[in-house]
Amino acid sequence: MQREQALAAEDRQHVEILERLRLEQPDKDWDQAELVAVPAGLTRTQMITAHRRLAYEKHLCAILREAASVEPETTEGTDPPMRAAVQRLCDTACMQCKGGCCATGGDHAYLSAETMRRELDRGVDAAALRKRYMAQVPARAIQGGCINQTETGCALPREQRSELCNTYYCGPVQDLRDRLAAAPDPSCTVLVQRAHTTRRRFDPDADHDIIAIEVLAPA
Ligand code: SF4
Ligand code: SF4
Repeated sequence: MQREQALAAEDRQHVEILERLRLEQPDKDWDQAELVAVPAGLTRTQMITAHRRLAYEKHLCAILREAASVEPETTEGTDPPMRAAVQRLCDTACMQCKGGCCATGGDHAYLSAETMRRELDRGVDAAALRKRYMAQVPARAIQGGCINQTETGCALPREQRSELCNTYYCGPVQDLRDRLAAAPDPSCTVLVQRAHTTRRRFDPDADHDIIAIEVLAPA
């Protein structure tokens, strides 16, 4: 019930925002406009401690050992790749949020034996792979987030991340992807950012204030 009420309240505010923007910016085509509401990611950074590096290295060693007996990660069965314009929109939304869903990456970064199998199959040996991932650990990362989560995004190149990292989207961004999968590109997209984190979206005690509204150019 709380969830339904929160969604209904969000919807009402979004309708008002679109109505106001329609009045303020009459030159834009609002009939084909989209709106996506993103949460606020954590922003404070801290030094990566030796303890965290060790925990990450132990995780890498464990999944590298396990990798010999697993199938590589695959995107089969997940959503087909989005057209470039929609992917750009989603990337912009995630940049505004600053990786809110990376907060649970901890010292494992969602890397698994299956991710390592995929990497080993690219021809890198296990020792070199461990060294490479360790060398990519940033000096500072978002406090309370993933060991690879920096102020400017993920320290790992996309092709080295887990499939989960590369295919997961929070509810609002996944909804936008679903809506646009079979629809034309929007004339413009309104990005609304709220103060709550992604985990507290439906928490009545969280701050749900709108902290940014941005009109993105046509995708
Ligand atoms: S998927 Fe959602 S929570 Fe994750 S970075 Fe993007 S907007 Fe933020
Ligand atoms: S590895 Fe990168 S994308 Fe994955 S949770 Fe960590 S910071 Fe986020």
